[in-house]
Amino acid sequence: MALNVTVLTIFPEVFPGFLGTSLTGRALEKGTWSIKTVNIRDYAFDKHGSVDDTPCGGGAGMIMRPDVLGEAIEHNHKKGKIIYMSPKGKPLNQAKVHELSKEENLTILCGRFEGIDERVIEEYEIEEISIGDYILTGGEQAAMILIDAVVRLLDGVLGNSDSIKNESFENKLLEYPQYTRPIEWKGRTVPEILLSGHHENISKWQHEQALKITKERRPDLLKEKSS
Ligand code: SAH
Repeated sequence: MALNVTVLTIFPEVFPGFLGTSLTGRALEKGTWSIKTVNIRDYAFDKHGSVDDTPCGGGAGMIMRPDVLGEAIEHNHKKGKIIYMSPKGKPLNQAKVHELSKEENLTILCGRFEGIDERVIEEYEIEEISIGDYILTGGEQAAMILIDAVVRLLDGVLGNSDSIKNESFENKLLEYPQYTRPIEWKGRTVPEILLSGHHENISKWQHEQALKITKERRPDLLKEKSS
């Protein structure tokens, strides 16, 4: 089952961008997922391709018009979820990424300027997703991050599906520290237990380390785990 992504944007030329390289790029070539970009300006009502207007009630910046966005959505959204990348949305996390990786179709709306008219969100029952508590210039960057995280979980994208299991945020834990050769570097050695070949002890050590790091850096994850 392939994932079909439709991105609504005023900058279609930036896609697939870095999604066309490495693991996501190979998966795109193989047809594990597809991406279709829609230029919102193509649905403008004037010859200048205007997509925005001043905010009702005053205030800074411009707002994307509901009628233009509505046309773009209705002509291109066939089925599945519509997502609006938005700082006001629910913060993206790995559990959400897993949920989205089970969808067959995702339509992603990228905002620009000061954002979009609220009625669009209501009319199409759009889900708002934020990639973090900071403001970007546009939803395109956020959409790429969301797509990257979702595509990575599709079947066959990662060489070894085991690598997902112990990663940060799976089981609400950060990953344990990792090492490779050389065994000694600048007077620092790899923890001896990792060289013991004793798989059970190694797993135990890795789990303890994961717990320790999570307690220190992200106690909020452990709270989520127990609640
Ligand atoms: N005035 C808005 C911010 C607009 S930023 C506010 O205060 O909430 C312009 C566009 O960038 C938004 O429409 C959104 O699509 C995108 N964007 C900015 N920050 C984002 C974030 N943290 N997560 C997801 N999308 C974001």
